[in-house]
Amino acid sequence: MSDARFVLAGVMGWPVAHSRSPVIHNHWIAQYGLRGTYVQLPVQPERLEDAIRGLKALGFAGCNVTVPHKVRAMEMMDELHPVARRMAAINTIVVREDGSLYGMNNDGAGWIQSLRDADPTWRADAGPALVLGAGGASRAIVVALLEEGAPEVRLTNRTRDKAEALAQEFGPKVKVIDWKDRNAAMAGMSLLVNATTQGMHGQPALEVSLDDLPKTAMVSDAIYIPLETPLLAAARQRGHRTVNGLGMLLNQARPAFQAWTGVMPEITPALRAAIQATF
Ligand code: NAP
Repeated sequence: MSDARFVLAGVMGWPVAHSRSPVIHNHWIAQYGLRGTYVQLPVQPERLEDAIRGLKALGFAGCNVTVPHKVRAMEMMDELHPVARRMAAINTIVVREDGSLYGMNNDGAGWIQSLRDADPTWRADAGPALVLGAGGASRAIVVALLEEGAPEVRLTNRTRDKAEALAQEFGPKVKVIDWKDRNAAMAGMSLLVNATTQGMHGQPALEVSLDDLPKTAMVSDAIYIPLETPLLAAARQRGHRTVNGLGMLLNQARPAFQAWTGVMPEITPALRAAIQATF
């Protein structure tokens, strides 16, 4: 930044203590020599509207939005990025010069970039993908896959209705598979994605068998604690290329930081080390 503006941003959620976003953004504020800080904003659901309306008055450049506010916060924006509208959720708010609020969702693009970082030759249109889960992360991933030209997205979720709702919204390329048939659905896939909470620290491992997954398939897990989930460990042992959720987390943060500060930050080994030190 050429001026001496103090950049104030944060992450709004309930709870937010677990969020790694302060580590990421404060690392970049220091790295780029900016004046500013990125804070935790624990906001109870019933105070969300007051909190969002207060951003401008408090001098915030914007904030990230996390669970459970991603959907309701969207309704309070003056303008939405088209991708955020498709995802029906936001993860970033930008307070513009005139005080209006702009909502973005960078989760899907961040996830795509994490696959490209792992394999620059990876292409969504190279073949069909199987996505496990139908919550917020899945929605962002399915939208991103379709935007990138995936020919078919097989979607399976413990609660089938939620997968059906996404398929209805996103059209015939999204095919719902019954949760009990998830293992057989791996045949012929070029990508397998875990967007459930199973395998996260404190949660049981995802119950899947990779026997029918082609060895050429890439395996991605949105989870980043632990960095290697039981699914990724099993996939690595079978020789698959694997991608953990840390790249998604880091890459979604870049455009938010740019929108608030004007600087597009880089993901460096020092940043990865700073995050990993918090695990
Ligand atoms: P969410 O909206 O609460 O969705 C949770 C999903 O997990 C649902 O599909 C749910 O199925 C499924 N699930 C929960 N318990 C299950 C079980 N016992 N067996 C099978 N499926 C089960 O959560 P989310 O926000 O999408 O997050 C999902 C994961 O992605 C989390 O681990 C989160 O940490 C990760 N994530 C990572 C990033 C990143 O930047 N790397 C960003 C966002 C999310 P039902 O519909 O049947 O309940």
